[in-house]
Amino acid sequence: MNPKCPACGAGSWKVGFSRGGRRVYKCKSCGKKFNERAGTPFHHLKTLEKDVLTATLMYVKYPLSTYQVADLLELFGVKVSASSVG
Ligand SMILES: [Zn+2]
Repeated sequence: MNPKCPACGAGSWKVGFSRGGRRVYKCKSCGKKFNERAGTPFHHLKTLEKDVLTATLMYVKYPLSTYQVADLLELFGVKVSASSVG
């Protein structure tokens, strides 16, 4: 399956390799680099948004209050305010 540029949606790109040996694509249209995972639902999320997502999933999955979830995540070094969970 050919990936599409997550920035502009173009389907033409050059293939290269990152320093870690991973395959990366460079969009011919806008020049942005992306990897095979581009286009998966969470790829575009910033770290903070991922943290909030994690918090929200924990909140939904376990019988915890938003404050407990925020507390738990803080143990892992993630700062999420309770108000962004619920
Ligand atoms: Zn592009």
